[in-house]
Amino acid sequence: MASNRWSESEAANLNGELELRVYSSRLLGSDPDLVLHGGGNTSVKISQQNLFGEEEEVLYVKGSGWDLATIEAEGFTPIRLQPLLRLAQLESLSDLEMVNQLKTLQTRAAAPTGSVEAILHAALPYPYVDHTHADAVVTLCNTPRGREFIEEIYGDRMIIVPYVMPGFDLARKVATLFQAEADADTIGLILLHHGIFTFGQSAKESYDRMITEVNHAEQFLRQHGAWDLPEDRVVHTGYDSIHDIARLRQQISTLTSQPMILRCDTSPTALTFSQHPDLATITTQGPATPDHVIRTKRLPMLGFDAAALSAYASAYQDYFEQCRTEVDGGESLQMLDPAPRVILNRQLGMICVGKSASEAAIVTDIYHHTRTIIQRAEKLGGWQALSPQEIFEVEYWELEQAKLRRSGHQRPLQGEIAWVSGAASGIGRACVESLLAQGAAVVGLDISPIIQGLFERDDFLGIQCDITDPDQLATAVSKAVLAFGGVDMVILNAGLFPGGTRIAEMDDALWRKVMSVNVDANLTLMRESYPLLELAPAGGRVVIIGSKNVPAPGPGAAAYSASKAALVQLARVAALEWAESGIRVNTLHPDAVFDTGLWTQEVLEARANHYGLSVADYKVRNLLKREIRSRDVAELATALCTPLFAATTGAQIPVDGGSERVI
Ligand code: ZN
Repeated sequence: MASNRWSESEAANLNGELELRVYSSRLLGSDPDLVLHGGGNTSVKISQQNLFGEEEEVLYVKGSGWDLATIEAEGFTPIRLQPLLRLAQLESLSDLEMVNQLKTLQTRAAAPTGSVEAILHAALPYPYVDHTHADAVVTLCNTPRGREFIEEIYGDRMIIVPYVMPGFDLARKVATLFQAEADADTIGLILLHHGIFTFGQSAKESYDRMITEVNHAEQFLRQHGAWDLPEDRVVHTGYDSIHDIARLRQQISTLTSQPMILRCDTSPTALTFSQHPDLATITTQGPATPDHVIRTKRLPMLGFDAAALSAYASAYQDYFEQCRTEVDGGESLQMLDPAPRVILNRQLGMICVGKSASEAAIVTDIYHHTRTIIQRAEKLGGWQALSPQEIFEVEYWELEQAKLRRSGHQRPLQGEIAWVSGAASGIGRACVESLLAQGAAVVGLDISPIIQGLFERDDFLGIQCDITDPDQLATAVSKAVLAFGGVDMVILNAGLFPGGTRIAEMDDALWRKVMSVNVDANLTLMRESYPLLELAPAGGRVVIIGSKNVPAPGPGAAAYSASKAALVQLARVAALEWAESGIRVNTLHPDAVFDTGLWTQEVLEARANHYGLSVADYKVRNLLKREIRSRDVAELATALCTPLFAATTGAQIPVDGGSERVI
């Protein structure tokens, strides 16, 4: 059941209508069965003085780009109420012009554009209005007897609004129905195939009503045996070819003309659903609410291979051609990419596709809710979503097309995937940060367990792994591919730097250990990643973190210098062998990077003493007299992966402030 999360003691500390609006909006946003990823919106009408000292009614409505779960006062857009109400009286208004009007009627220019449902909020004559696409309500709506069920549950308390696409027409429809049908008992609206509105004199009243009314829908589902979902019974047993996933990612990226992230959800729930005996029947209807259309597309793809994908793409093309003929100005519509956003596969469960890792994560969340909604609706007479034409009109809404035209700047590594070894600290960690900042999804490998919790975000996966152990490495590679769909860039950074040992005292075991980490493990990682890099949509890239010791070795560092020299030769041969696969392999030679775990204050002092220098002078012992930081190395490693270096392979670049021994 949706729980009522209102706390009198928390609310008692809030001042004014807007703070209470923020508070109860966040309560709604904190329950994913009510509000999911930017869905839903809320408002409050406040009377306030304008610059001329006149009282003016202002609608504070959720601004676009804000999520109810985390919204703040500045996320509500203040819009003059009276002109909004006049707009609701117009016979017609294009949605683009409506948004233009919302923008020009704001009382604070810097506020975000108000929700497209602003006029609808304005038309409801209550101070507080709450709107969600609650799962339980849309489940009932998306069944053949949906309207009947809704009438049975809500009686006269709710006005039932037949489906109209969000935008001006819906606002006008609601305004008309409200005037005709509302009475003292009316506490809200049910928008068929869309969601629920409640309103009230106070933030609490409106919120309480939302929770109570959604719970009535849930109770109905329970009473009709449509609440309990089938038990999860399938467990992930591995998948024999991760290369198939990377190949599918390459094909999807070709369809979308940009690198895409594929996120495999192999949870028992996802697998059980993907093995549903009637999967084809139950998933070929459409999304639960218009809000999901853009994220999940109309239908998931079933199956996995190139044939399934090309069938999906051509079905999408047909859907576009057929539906656009019924839309005004449909001839001028640009077809969106024909790639799926949700793929259901018996072995892999649910694979969600996004232009970034966070987009793929959102699709995953939304489709998990869709799956639940479908399964419950099936028990209530069948899943019956909007018609393809109605879905098309949302997908190709003029506001969405305008948004597409605006979406200009993309970060250089958006949609791409990087693996970084030795990622928990020093140069490796700095590489992770730099790659994330450029839009890549990153898998960090490290022998230290701290890698797992290094960053809590959708575009990072930390895997604890001893890269000298081939079994651990194979497991890590498999996990990494399931997380994001493949690999585009590999940063080979993990390395051992043992303390000074002269050759005369060199111990065989130490020599072997340094070689096994600095050379052998990198060979294995390169070999295992090669077939995946070959499938990178924009061409694979490998960056080797070498060392100044390669061109300018020092006494006492035989194992380190020899291992790094071997690694660099390996990289040069890889550049030769892999060029024909479009894979670029370049090497950086950092020197004297002191902000890493290797350099304690003690070691620094000892080294500085050895040269008769202060620590400060020792740190800048290079031609440019500049301290070299992990970040300097990381930024260059990342830059090597961008198109700036599209024509460069087999290069070795120093990051050392200039060294007279090497220049
Ligand atoms: Zn809505």
